Amino acid sequence: MKLSVLGAGRCVTGSKYLLEWKKFAAMIDCGLFQGPAENRRRNWRRLPFPPKHIGAVVLTHAHIDHSGWLPRLVRQGFKGPVYCTPPTRDLLRVLLPDAAHIQEEEARYANEKGYSKHEPALPLFRAADARAALKLLEPVPFDVWHELHPGIRFRLHRQGHILGAAAVELETKVSGGDRKTVYFSGDVGRYGVPILKEPEPYPGSDVLLLESTYGDRFHGNGDPRAALCDTIRAALERGGIILIPAFAIDRTQELLYLLHELVVDGDLPEIPTYLDSPMGIEATAVYSRALAEHDIEMRQLLADQTNPIFPSNLQVTPTSAESRKLNALKGPAIIISASGMATGGRILHHLKLRLPDPRNTVIFVGYQAEGTKGRRLVEGEPEVKIHGEWIPVKANVTQVSGLSAHADAGELLLWLSRRERDPEAVYLVHGEYHAQQALAERLDAEFGWKPSIPELGETVTI
Ligand SMILES: [Zn+2]
Repeated sequence: MKLSVLGAGRCVTGSKYLLEWKKFAAMIDCGLFQGPAENRRRNWRRLPFPPKHIGAVVLTHAHIDHSGWLPRLVRQGFKGPVYCTPPTRDLLRVLLPDAAHIQEEEARYANEKGYSKHEPALPLFRAADARAALKLLEPVPFDVWHELHPGIRFRLHRQGHILGAAAVELETKVSGGDRKTVYFSGDVGRYGVPILKEPEPYPGSDVLLLESTYGDRFHGNGDPRAALCDTIRAALERGGIILIPAFAIDRTQELLYLLHELVVDGDLPEIPTYLDSPMGIEATAVYSRALAEHDIEMRQLLADQTNPIFPSNLQVTPTSAESRKLNALKGPAIIISASGMATGGRILHHLKLRLPDPRNTVIFVGYQAEGTKGRRLVEGEPEVKIHGEWIPVKANVTQVSGLSAHADAGELLLWLSRRERDPEAVYLVHGEYHAQQALAERLDAEFGWKPSIPELGETVTI
């Protein structure tokens, strides 16, 4: 079997692996490259294999860097099927149309401003391509073998990273009636986080493709729940509005859960809370409905008629008109909005309005990548440019760390530690090179493994 790393090779976006076995080809994940322009340009490259001859795609989870290139693949002639878990399908119904909208908006904006090298600037894909991609989704339940092609089958294992996230175990028949397994970790989740069931440990395989996002980092021992509580208490004393930029999927739901828990435990008073993100609102509904994926505590709460991610003090503002009404809001109140790194979305309108007032507080609850407005704000810049206007930063800007959907270096090793056998070959993917080198050293020291770190575009025979 040949495996080509078409994305997430020594980088963290664009997850895409092409498998070629005899005359059959399939892809595991079909993600979009994100971040700086040189990354995004890679989204325009042709695949080394004709899309119409790809037999199937298997998706590990709904994050756009694992699924967002699917409409482009469909646009180029891919006819499906696309296998994923049922909750991943539900989240993709929210995510892919939004991704298409962003592509169309960017092309429109580039044409308006005339800054594209292409005349006219075109979107990578359109809403119709996203709709066509959604039609190809074929949900496959967790833990059940499914034939990908005669002689090759796969099974999805719970990964706890976000709702529906899975690892893919692929099994092929080899000569002599033997079977070989390849295990794609997808993005590895964490133990002990609210709402979702725990990740299933790695069982062992012949070949392992392991993500390495946090291969060189630890989330630390700090308790994000306690830090969130202290930060909100301090914010209440200032008397203003509390703005929380958050990713619409997973982080928003985890945050709502923690806020509810703090109120129930008497650590915080009940504060009017607004979820001002159309995607966040839809994702919260998908999370609420995914009963089979809830952990024991979440199930117990729902059985007691309490939805901790949709508590009674939460109001949602799906329309732009409802969102604008929040401008008249006087504190105390919490507004949760996207995007999580303040790179776009409704949070920008709120920041523009609220940053100049020292009574307000902005709480970042996730990693802020270099070059984002979020990063500039947490680094304490005295003014930021929003929608072409310089806005003075007088509000208190803070960061609560420790909330992450990704296993850190220690948790990755923990996830691997319950295996029944060692892999013969390990490939590190989905990580910056320095993080991958650090993880390779740890895997060697702890388990005696000698992982390879394939480059983008590299093909290995497994
Ligand atoms: Zn992910």
